Amino acid sequence: MKKLISIVIPCYNEEAVIIETYKRLTSVMACTEKRYNYELIFANDGSKDMTLKLLKEISRNDSHVKIINFSRNFGHQIAVTAGIDSAKGDAVVLIDADLQDPPELILEFIEQWENGYEVVYAVRRKRIGETWFKKVTASYFYRYLHKITDINIPVDTGDFRLMSRKVVNVLKQIKERHRFIRGLVSWVGFKQIGIPYDRAERFAGETKYPLKKMIKFSIDAITSFSYFPLKIAGFLGVSSAILGVFGIIISLILKFTTDYVIQGWTSLMIVMLFLGGMQLFILGIIGEYLGRIYDETRNRPLYIVDDEDIQSNMNEPQDD
Ligand code: UDP
Ligand code: MG
Repeated sequence: MKKLISIVIPCYNEEAVIIETYKRLTSVMACTEKRYNYELIFANDGSKDMTLKLLKEISRNDSHVKIINFSRNFGHQIAVTAGIDSAKGDAVVLIDADLQDPPELILEFIEQWENGYEVVYAVRRKRIGETWFKKVTASYFYRYLHKITDINIPVDTGDFRLMSRKVVNVLKQIKERHRFIRGLVSWVGFKQIGIPYDRAERFAGETKYPLKKMIKFSIDAITSFSYFPLKIAGFLGVSSAILGVFGIIISLILKFTTDYVIQGWTSLMIVMLFLGGMQLFILGIIGEYLGRIYDETRNRPLYIVDDEDIQSNMNEPQDD
């Protein structure tokens, strides 16, 4: 029996690219069809445009295509998670819908998987057609994340990757909500290898990662894998306490040994505002962690699927 490769494609308002993505993926997978079966799992993350309609049309004529339709926008990482959950393949490939990740690279992934690697990830050598802001922030983000976490999350690496069934089964047991999938995959371990590639421009449409989502994504990544912000908070607390002790000693010495009295207002304001600001900042950091703990304890489902009138092949057994 041929092995099955599942390809998971998260889609949010991707009407401009989805057909082309489907075509490219299909022609790539046709190259390996002698050796592998494949399924294309499109996770529609609450798109407000024609994405779902187009996906339904595609799936009507092609039994390789499966659709997971969310009841609303749950976010990229959750859409990928839903795809992984329902993938049946011996290997699962994650790829963006916008063709920034060249589908042709999947063939190299498969080769390395055949060589015995459990995870094959793509490392961005160059990023074409993205704003300098995105490039600079991403570059710093991955490098700092690497520094402040204990696990070895490879730099300049997105979710574009292949994972073996072994890794996927472990990943499926991880139920945390604020997910940073590329970090979780590194955390899982096993034999992993990176393949360099040049990230292309978006085929069409706009980025679905505005600044707000980028910030949430990076805070999720940091809080999932590091206590560094809490340590900074602690460090700031200790340093200001030490400064405070010095301040007290100096003030007392000045008061009792000289006639000099520090003239009030300016210094008082500086100390008050500085300490007040720092306390709120530290509270904010603690709040980020606390909110995440709260989210975990509520135990809500990670996503809600609305599969009404989707001709999904999700439950059909794969044969041949
Ligand atoms: N995406 C998603 N839900 C979202 C945002 C994005 O499923 O809330 C998908 C999007 O359709 C694409 C992938 O995640 O397939 C990456 O998004 P995008 O290409 O816009 O991000 P960028 O490459 O600009 O970082
Ligand atoms: Mg993109």
